[in-house]
Amino acid sequence: MINTIKTTVTKHSVVIGITLIVWLLLQILKELLPLVLPSILQNSPPKLILLLLVLSMLGNLILLTLVILNRNKKLKLKFGIYWDNETDPNPYCPICKAPLQVDERAFTFNEVNLGSLKLTCLKCEKPIPIRDDNSQYVPFKKAKELILKSR
Ligand SMILES: [Zn+2]
Repeated sequence: MINTIKTTVTKHSVVIGITLIVWLLLQILKELLPLVLPSILQNSPPKLILLLLVLSMLGNLILLTLVILNRNKKLKLKFGIYWDNETDPNPYCPICKAPLQVDERAFTFNEVNLGSLKLTCLKCEKPIPIRDDNSQYVPFKKAKELILKSR
């Protein structure tokens, strides 16, 4: 309980601190720009402005790429665990969203592969079962197939 309160207070303090810093920077820019901007525009060569424009476009391109890459890593909850959007979906922990370790030997009994895998979260140190809506175990490969079909 106390740890939760500490974490919440810490998070809010950081957000309030960053907001205050951004606000102060904006106030400084608001006062400084009208004084400095006209002389910069008059005295800077067109080549410099063109280079700044190219730099700005490159920055926007990098940001757009990062946004697209992060969108692809959006995780969906299915069969009690998270899955990514890869063509070969990877499992992620339902608690901490860390990638799950796949152990193919776990569900082999008397040298017969039962067609399932054991998934373990190394961060939570827990085995994670794959279950359907009726709490029945679903083999890993079948879960992957069903996820690919549902797309
Ligand atoms: Zn975990």
